[in-house]
Amino acid sequence: MEKKPFVTKEQLEKIVEKYPTPFHLYDEKGIRQTARDLYKAFSWNEGFKEYFAVKATPTPAILKILKEEGCGTDCSSLTELMMSDRCGFADGNSIMFSSNETPAEEFILAKKLGAIINLDDITHIDFLKDACGIPERICCRYNPGGYFSLGTDIMDNPGDAKYGMTKPQIFEAFKRLKREGVKEFGIHSFLASNTVSNEYYPALAAILFNLAVELKENLGVHIGFINLSGGVGIPYTPDKEPNDIFAIGEGVRKAYEEILVPAGMGDVKIFTELGRFMLAPHGHLVVKAIHEKHTYKEYIGVDACAANLMRPAMYGAYHHITVMGKENEPCDHTYDVVGSLCENNDKFAIDRKLPKIDMGDLLVLHDTGAHGFAMGYNYNGRLKSAEILLQEDGSTRMIRRAETPEDYFATIEGFDF
Ligand SMILES: *Cc1c(COP(=O)(O)O)cnc(C)c1O
Repeated sequence: MEKKPFVTKEQLEKIVEKYPTPFHLYDEKGIRQTARDLYKAFSWNEGFKEYFAVKATPTPAILKILKEEGCGTDCSSLTELMMSDRCGFADGNSIMFSSNETPAEEFILAKKLGAIINLDDITHIDFLKDACGIPERICCRYNPGGYFSLGTDIMDNPGDAKYGMTKPQIFEAFKRLKREGVKEFGIHSFLASNTVSNEYYPALAAILFNLAVELKENLGVHIGFINLSGGVGIPYTPDKEPNDIFAIGEGVRKAYEEILVPAGMGDVKIFTELGRFMLAPHGHLVVKAIHEKHTYKEYIGVDACAANLMRPAMYGAYHHITVMGKENEPCDHTYDVVGSLCENNDKFAIDRKLPKIDMGDLLVLHDTGAHGFAMGYNYNGRLKSAEILLQEDGSTRMIRRAETPEDYFATIEGFDF
């Protein structure tokens, strides 16, 4: 599907007059629409709730929008828990804590905030008990091992992933937890990342529903919810079609009717922890072309770098680029679009066909709303950019300022700086 920015060149030129590039720009209207569609797609399930994966976009203004749409948060660290608390999510039902290799202080805070704790391993039962005691409601993370394949290009290798418990372990864990007084259980699993397929959630749901029936029938435990976690993806490349969340919701409903309802489990709540699907398409990294270089290849240097968007450097990820105002010009140039890090993998695009780029052109990097700003770091002394919200009425609001050199120096100790 053709990728179009959610702002026009005229709009963006106004925005950059106020906020210098580079910055991450988010589209409030799109975020709300995606959240509403998700809730509609799962409206057949009473108690459905999306716990937005904070790690994807840890920005309070974004979390508040999602909260208004009915979402909770999924946290995996102390600061994500603290952020959720400060954003008003600590109401006893709106925080999921899906962490791994968890320090005791994080379990303590999660329990204090009334978060649903999702145990990554059977040994965490004793660890949690020692840290703060076992709550009455708990979730366990399941890893079925082996390969997971949908028979399409969706394939992942849960057997090689550090997360979750084996099947015998989850049975053992539930038995122990029941003895410890747990009254309500949940099951969670995350088998494949960025799936561009309407089949992933229904296939995962069937695996978890069958496991839930077995656990209930063998151990007599009450399964209150099933957490399908994240993994529903987005098409980063224009040749792919986006997922149809309504088809996905319908596929999960079918599995629910076939497996859970006949087992007398028609009251099980469905939870999700989507990050990428909720936010990625609704963010742009806006940069300016500031250098061009002709050596063995043609390079366009921009004023952002991998410190602002790490995915291309880290995974060779594709992010579509629009040269603003040149949408209809022929893509008759082949460029490497590069950032300023002293690392040769700091390339937003390699051998990308684009229209001729002139110095000062504004470039939009698409689909940076999740795992974009969030993965930022300070290598080479590069500073994290601002985040700007394009509000529903078309106005803009800064929701995080850019880092300054003083922020970067602020943690230095033992030296008169
Ligand atoms: C990263 C993560 C998510 C979100 O994943 P997306 O691919 O962004 O949907 C959800 N749950 C857990 C436990 C995660 O680690």
